[in-house]
Amino acid sequence: MEENITVAVLGTGNMGAGIARNLLADGMEVRAWNRTREKAEPLADDGVDVVDTPAEAAQDADFVITILPDVDAVEEVVRAEDSPLSVLSEDGVWIQTSTVGEEGSERLADVAAEHDIIYVDAPVLGTKEPAEQGQLVVLASGPEEALQRCQPIFEAIGSKTLWLEPAGAGSRLKLVTNSWLNGLLALLAETISLARALGVDPAHFLEAVEGGPLDAPYVQMKGQMMIDEEFPTSFSVNLAQKDSDLVLEAAQARDLHLLIAEAVNARFEEASDAGYGEEDMAAVYEVAKPERS
Ligand code: NAP
Repeated sequence: MEENITVAVLGTGNMGAGIARNLLADGMEVRAWNRTREKAEPLADDGVDVVDTPAEAAQDADFVITILPDVDAVEEVVRAEDSPLSVLSEDGVWIQTSTVGEEGSERLADVAAEHDIIYVDAPVLGTKEPAEQGQLVVLASGPEEALQRCQPIFEAIGSKTLWLEPAGAGSRLKLVTNSWLNGLLALLAETISLARALGVDPAHFLEAVEGGPLDAPYVQMKGQMMIDEEFPTSFSVNLAQKDSDLVLEAAQARDLHLLIAEAVNARFEEASDAGYGEEDMAAVYEVAKPERS
C-alpha cells in the first residue's frame, strides 16, 4: 500500500474514474476534479476527495494526472490562471495520460517547462474496463529518475509499463498502436458488412477465426457489438476520429502516405457526421453496413 502519496486526477470520464479508484485502492490519497462535477460525485462514495477546481485538486500533491479528451482541453486546464501545475508539491510530477499526439505532447512539455515541473508523457493502452480493473498498459516516457518515481502510480493503474525516453516517445508509440486499433475496427466493420451482404452469418466469421491466428480479443468483442448493433461506450467514435487525425498528422509530417489510414479516417469521420460520435467506436459499423452502401 502507498499511503504517503497524494494524487490529483483531472478528468473522470470513461478512463479517469477507473484510474482514480485504482489509485485509491492502492492506499493513495486521491483528489479528483471533473468539468461537470456531478459526474465525479460517485467517486466520493469510495473515498475520493471530489473538488471544484484543478488547482484545489493539485494543491501540494505529489502527482497530477491529466486524462482529458485532447490537447486543447489539457492545455486549457493547465494554462488557466489558477494552474494546477503551479501548486504541486516541490518535486511534483505531471503525468499526462491523455492521447494528444506528437505535436500535442511537445506543446504540453513546453507548458511543464514554463512551470519548471517534471513532465511525464504517459498515454495508456486499454479502454474503460481495463482502466476500472487496473489493467492498462502505460507507455511512459520522460527522464529516467521521474519514471522511477512514477512506478507506484503505474503499478496501481496498469498491468504493464513500457519505460521509454525521452518524453514524447510514449505518444509516438501510442500513435502506432492507435493506427493498428482504428484500422482493425474499420476493417472488422467492413468484414461483418461483407458477410451480411453475401448472406453469410457474421457469427460464423467470428466462430471461424476464434482462437486461431486470425483472431484477436477485439475481433470477438467489438465484432459481437457490431452484430448486435449495440454500442455502449468504452471508447467513443469521436475520440477514435481524433486519434485517427493524429496518426495522419504525424505521418504527413514525414511525407509518409498511409492509404489505409486515410480510408479509416474517412470511415470514422462518416460515423461521427452520421451522429454516432458519442457511441462506442464499434458504431463505425453503422456507416459500413450493407443497407447504407
Ligand atoms: P471521456 O469519457 O469522453 O471523458 C472526457 C473527460 O474530459 C470528461 O470528464 C469531460 O468532462 C472532460 N472534458 C471534456 N472536454 C473538456 C474540456 N474542454 N475541459 C475540461 N474537461 C473536459 O474520455 P475518455 O474515454 O476517458 O478519454 C480520455 C483520454 O484518454 C482521451 O485522450 C482518450 O483518447 C484517451 N484514451 C481513452 C481510451 C478509452 O478507451 N476510453 C483508451 C486509451 C486512451 P465532462 O464530464 O464535463 O464532459
